[in-house]
Amino acid sequence: MLVAGGGGFIGGHLADALSKEGFTVRAVDIKPLDQWYQIPEGVEPCRLDLSKLDDCREAVRGIDTVYNLAADMGGIAFIKSHKAECMLSVLINTHLLLAARDADVRRYFFASSACVYNVDRQAVADVTPLKESDAYPAMAEDGYGWEKLFSERMCRHFTEEFGLETRVARFHNIYGPHGSYDDGREKAPAALCRKIAKAVLTGEHEIEIWGDGEQTRSFLYVDDCVEAMKLVVAGDNSSPVNVGSVERVSINEMVSIIERIAGITVRRHYRSDAPLGVRGRNSDNAMVKQLYNWEPRLALADGLERTYEWIFDQLSLGAAARSTCSVLSTRLNEPAAVMHRRVG
Ligand code: NAD
Repeated sequence: MLVAGGGGFIGGHLADALSKEGFTVRAVDIKPLDQWYQIPEGVEPCRLDLSKLDDCREAVRGIDTVYNLAADMGGIAFIKSHKAECMLSVLINTHLLLAARDADVRRYFFASSACVYNVDRQAVADVTPLKESDAYPAMAEDGYGWEKLFSERMCRHFTEEFGLETRVARFHNIYGPHGSYDDGREKAPAALCRKIAKAVLTGEHEIEIWGDGEQTRSFLYVDDCVEAMKLVVAGDNSSPVNVGSVERVSINEMVSIIERIAGITVRRHYRSDAPLGVRGRNSDNAMVKQLYNWEPRLALADGLERTYEWIFDQLSLGAAARSTCSVLSTRLNEPAAVMHRRVG
């Protein structure tokens, strides 16, 4: 199995799950290995630039199934200010498709996004859940969403014309540990966990919230996402399907959940000039339930508890652990991420 983007958040969890199931897994990412969120036991890590066709050919050599989770992306602040970079991810999917076709890959998965949905259908907080057909007529999220929509279609045509079996899932706000929380690419759950964990650690119980906090979303825990992805790949349906949660919350409600987990309440400062996405978004899971009998297992409060604990640990212990690992890794000539796993 190839996990493209294996040094990233979802890719790291997927590589771990596949490896634990006994598959031989190659994980590929453009980042240096010491910046990967995890390098699971047994996984072959590889640093390649998948926007380049030659690197894609190397990545797919001997591969049965490709999971394409590689993309230049981030939270709303990132995608609003990096539209060209987001759209350049089209090179990754295009070259990976070509390489997969030429290497007789059996199955190809593309990670699409709820950002493909027509923004006009997401203008109110009390939003109607988005079903797959709502992507058309198209008016996707500028930049990032249009690339996803285009790449979905590219997958479809590779199936129709070249016989490459493709599968596409539209992820809705995936969250969990071992992902971005403070590098400018983080999304709301990780950002809010970080802010509240910092409030606990510093004693300054104040946080900034983007917008008025009444915008709504649904969030899916990463383990549920990985489960769904494997079902989508194993199944027969090649058209895009939602992989999300139907548990809709406002950002203010999510802050209250994290406050309860952290055991503090914070003063909330609302920033009206901050970058904002659509006003409301929720997943309609009828199709994914009908096709795969899949629905999320973990409630938001439980997933946030796991995420908060990981981010809290990173903030309180991370700096010390990271510096120990980098000293050891330099001495023993091993990637810091591998060393980090060894020393726990
Ligand atoms: P991530 O940023 O943690 O992982 C993406 C990985 O791709 C990164 O590690 C990055 O270094 C790698 N990458 C970028 N350019 C590359 C290149 N040229 N060659 C090789 N690797 C490259 O993001 P994630 O949250 O794990 O998302 C995985 C996939 O799921 C992406 O396609 C993303 O668009 C999609 N998605 C994620 C969410 C979410 O909420 N996390 C929602 C919808 C869709």
